[in-house]
Amino acid sequence: MNTGIQNRTAIDVALGELRVLVGERVTAAVVVREHHSHGESTHPPALPDLVCFPQSSEEVCGIVKVSARHGLAIVPFGAGTSLEGHVHALRGGICMDMRQMNRVLRVSVEDMDATVEAGIGRLALAKALENTGLTFFIDPGADATIGGMASTRASGTTAVRYGTMRENVLGLTVVLADGRVIRTGTRARKSSAGYDLTRLFVGAEGTLGVKPK
Ligand SMILES: Cc1cc2nc3c(=O)[nH]c(=O)nc-3n(C[C@H](O)[C@H](O)[C@H](O)COP(=O)(O)OP(=O)(O)OC[C@H]3O[C@@H](n4cnc5c(N)ncnc54)[C@H](O)[C@@H]3O)c2cc1C
Repeated sequence: MNTGIQNRTAIDVALGELRVLVGERVTAAVVVREHHSHGESTHPPALPDLVCFPQSSEEVCGIVKVSARHGLAIVPFGAGTSLEGHVHALRGGICMDMRQMNRVLRVSVEDMDATVEAGIGRLALAKALENTGLTFFIDPGADATIGGMASTRASGTTAVRYGTMRENVLGLTVVLADGRVIRTGTRARKSSAGYDLTRLFVGAEGTLGVKPK
């Protein structure tokens, strides 16, 4: 088990910088680290050194920059329903729990799409779409977050009819490992200009960047 004791100085300095950035929404409390040390798999837990709860893309960006400055690993954390050990902090570092970023930012009935923050749960999104004529059909069997589902390219029993996250994500905002922010894809479904970066990040399991929305 990773107890997260290596690189103590970097972690302490990072904790101080993160306190300035997100206040009380960063913690080194063991109980919170334990909670974020595993998903729903049978793999042994691995604790992150710190856990943060960002509330905006700017905070995600700032946290990633702190981790880059101190050489600490980042583990984005959705609902922690992963079955394959995705969220285990094998190298310690900073776990970023995305669930306080859970707003529906826009629903367009005419265009049949919506923009959401990554930490919204799939059932909360379905509820928010009630009575709009739209719905979100992808059901991997867990109340996962949309960011986690995009990152695992989630499917489920409805996939044959409605597709997986690969077919349903039009575009992403991604914070890269050095804190740069990129936007992939477009809401215009007929566009095919350039590299299909959305498909690169869908299913990347948090390895290529953090998706705030
Ligand atoms: C009972 C059960 C049945 C399941 N059945 C299916 C199935 O039939 N088909 C299927 O496809 N899946 C299935 N799954 C897996 C499910 O799809 C995933 O567990 C889920 O999509 C993960 O979402 P999460 O929010 O819990 O993410 P987490 O488990 O928290 O994270 C999963 C991965 O995504 C990364 N991540 C999370 N949020 C972000 C973000 N905002 N930005 C970047 N990376 C991020 C994490 O670092 C991690 O690598 C099942 C799971 C359960 C528990």
